[in-house]
Amino acid sequence: MSQVSMGQACDIETLLRPDVAAMEEYTPILPFEVLSARLGLPPERIVKLDANENPYGPSPKTLAALAAFPYHNIYPDPEQTALRAGLSRYLGIPADRILAGAGADELLDLICRLFLYPGDAVIVCPPTFGMYRFDALIQGARVVEISRRDDFTLDLDAIEKHFVSPDDAHPPKIVFLTSPNNPDGGLISQIALRRLLRLPAVIVMDEAYTEFAGESALMVTHDHSNLIVLRTFSKWAGLAGLRAGYGVFPAAVMRHLWKIKQPYNVSTAATVAALASLDDLAYLHENVRRLIAERERLQRELGRFDFLQPFPSRANFVLCRVIGRDARFLKQSLERRGILVRFFDRPGLRSCIRVSVGKPEHTDALLTSLREV
Ligand SMILES: *Cc1c(COP(=O)(O)O)cnc(C)c1O
Repeated sequence: MSQVSMGQACDIETLLRPDVAAMEEYTPILPFEVLSARLGLPPERIVKLDANENPYGPSPKTLAALAAFPYHNIYPDPEQTALRAGLSRYLGIPADRILAGAGADELLDLICRLFLYPGDAVIVCPPTFGMYRFDALIQGARVVEISRRDDFTLDLDAIEKHFVSPDDAHPPKIVFLTSPNNPDGGLISQIALRRLLRLPAVIVMDEAYTEFAGESALMVTHDHSNLIVLRTFSKWAGLAGLRAGYGVFPAAVMRHLWKIKQPYNVSTAATVAALASLDDLAYLHENVRRLIAERERLQRELGRFDFLQPFPSRANFVLCRVIGRDARFLKQSLERRGILVRFFDRPGLRSCIRVSVGKPEHTDALLTSLREV
């Protein structure tokens, strides 16, 4: 002990994991209030079409249930008994194959922690949702990117090649799939999924937007022991801020997931809100129906602008290529008018904006601004 010089300044950064220390910093999106102040517009004047949130919000019954719940001072049930029972009734899947998370995002992280050692590989098919790559990298995994084709369909042959090459002794352990995909809104066909399920890997099917598509791989989980389906209340049920998601897992991994899950991962508020949403399906489905109708209108109307090329979407957003104009400038011009959209400029998404489906008046405001800029 005497050899150690106590009380000396410690350079805490030298103690960090070197891979984390070398990681690029994450650029967080600006909080709504900050953006509102910066634009000099009150929050109610801002048309937020940049994060695929549900403009109709939670159902009134959900808000009433949240207000009435008396036990927020008590820790939530670590076994999520009531929530898993509710999900089981809703899905027609036994509760012992269902696990809820603080959003689907938490379950993605949990899956990576369950399967990945440093150096293990995963397959991600960009352009797609960013969290697969993010969570895999935090585990020190190798991210193998198999780009989608120009029409955003998967390159199945290229994915399969990573499992047959004899020089790769360590084939990828997880393949991340998204249907409908974010940011284009395209579906993965049942044929493509069934082909990928033959691979000796965990197939994670992220169905965050499935309620807007009316198609799901959920029933395929019955006869495939390597398929995980993830879903969320964030988009269709308007609970993004409360963080409620769930997964349907192969029976063989449930026991292991329980070992590594944080005991209180789903808050009492998220639990109450998710259960109340499942009790108010008619109301929420009506909003989903409205959003689907509005998506069709938005797609049609955006296609009338000669500088926009919308891609067909089955989700609650529409991706557009911006042609002959600066997409970043377009995004900024819309922002000055209080309309927020998502701008991309990376491989596969050059000069693109993604517009979330809002209420009809949000589409109207967007179309008016697009005519002005
Ligand atoms: C929004 C989104 C999620 C995140 O869902 P949460 O339940 O809010 O964590 C997951 N996957 C995709 C593709 C998404 O777009």
